[in-house]
Amino acid sequence: MEETKIYKDLDERYYMPAFSRDIALVKGKGTKVWDADGKEYIDCVAGIAVCSTGHCHPKVVKAICNQARTLIHCSNLYYIPHQGELAKKIVEITGLHKAFFSNSGAEAIDGAIKLARVRTGKKNFVAFTHGFHGRTVGSLAVTYKPAIREPFEPLGIKCSFVDFGDLEGLKKVVDRDTAGVLVEPIQGEAGIIIPPNSFLEGIREICDSTGSLMIADEVQTGMGRTGKWLAIQHTKVIPDIITLAKGIASGFPMGALVARKDLEFKKTEHGSTFAGGPLACAASLATIDVIEKILPEVSKKGERFKKGLVKYNPRIRGLMIGISVGEKCPEVQKKCAEQGVLVNCAADGNLRLVPPLIISNAEIDQVVGVIDGALS
Ligand SMILES: *Cc1c(COP(=O)(O)O)cnc(C)c1O
Repeated sequence: MEETKIYKDLDERYYMPAFSRDIALVKGKGTKVWDADGKEYIDCVAGIAVCSTGHCHPKVVKAICNQARTLIHCSNLYYIPHQGELAKKIVEITGLHKAFFSNSGAEAIDGAIKLARVRTGKKNFVAFTHGFHGRTVGSLAVTYKPAIREPFEPLGIKCSFVDFGDLEGLKKVVDRDTAGVLVEPIQGEAGIIIPPNSFLEGIREICDSTGSLMIADEVQTGMGRTGKWLAIQHTKVIPDIITLAKGIASGFPMGALVARKDLEFKKTEHGSTFAGGPLACAASLATIDVIEKILPEVSKKGERFKKGLVKYNPRIRGLMIGISVGEKCPEVQKKCAEQGVLVNCAADGNLRLVPPLIISNAEIDQVVGVIDGALS
C-alpha cells in the first residue's frame, strides 16, 4: 500500500474528485497489469474496452516510437502521415464511404451530431434509455442518465429518449424534424445490454421513413470487440454514420466518425487541432494490423467465457460480457481484484468484462474461476 498511498495523497489534495478509485496502475504487458505496489492482475477492464491488443503491444509501441522520432504533430493545415491510409482502412472495415477523425468518443459523437444537422437541415435527435454517448456538452445532450445530464441543462440540443428496444415508441417520436437517431448496437455503459436484431432493423426502417439518419455509436462495440469489426455487422443493417473510439488505437486517444456516400463535412464545417495526428494514426494502423489477425478467435473466446459462467446467465457477444449481480457488484469487483483479476461494475449492478482480445484460454479459465469464487 505504501506506493499506492503516494498516488492517493496527491490525488486527494490536487485532483478534482470526479472519479472513485483505489488502485494505482503503473505497468502493463499483454493481458497483465501491475499496481504501484507490485501486485499483478489479469486485466478484464482493458482501460474500458480500449486496450484490445493488450497493453503495450510491441507492434503498437514500435509504430508510436518510430512516428515520435519522425513527426509528432503538424496540424490539419497539412497532409498528415498515415491519416489517409488509416481513413482507407476504416472505410474498408466499416463498408461506409469517408472518415473523419477526433480525439475521443464524445468528440466523434459531437461530430456526428453536427454532420447530421448540417446535411439533413433538421435539428432534433432521438436516443434511448440507459444509452451513453459521452460527456461533452453535445454528446451529453444525447446521453440518457439524468444524474449526469440534468445538472448541466440546458444543453442546446433537443433529444427525446425512447425505451431501448421499443420500436412502437420510437415510431411515435421520430418525425420530419428528427436529424438522427443514436443507438449503441449493444449498450456498454448500461452493462452490456444486447437487443434483438429486429430492433436495429426497425430503427433503420423508421429512419428511412422520415429521412432521419441512423447513427450507430460503436465507440465501445467496434474494432473487433464483438467478434466482427462492428457489432452492427451481426445484422444486415447499414447505418448512415458510425462512431468509433475506444479500441481504435490501443489506448492512444483517438476517435472517428465514418459516413455513407454523400454525407461529408465541407470546408469550414468541422475541424480540430490535434485530431487524426501522426501518432494517433500510426497507433491505429498498427492496432488494426494486430486485430485483423486475432479477430477470428474472438467469438470462440467469448464462447469459452459463456460456458464457464453459464450459471450466472451472462450476456455475451465476442469479448463483451455482462452479468447482472445486483447491489453486491462493488463488493464482487473488490474481491476479484484481491484475487488478481480486474473487472468493473457498469450501471445497475452489472459486472462488465471487456478483456484484451488477445486473452488466452488459460487466462479465461483463471478469470472464470475467480469470478465464480467471488459470486458464490
Ligand atoms: C465511452 C463511450 C463514449 C465516450 O467516449 P469518450 O472517449 O469517453 O469520450 C461514447 N459512446 C459510447 C458507446 C461509449 O462507450
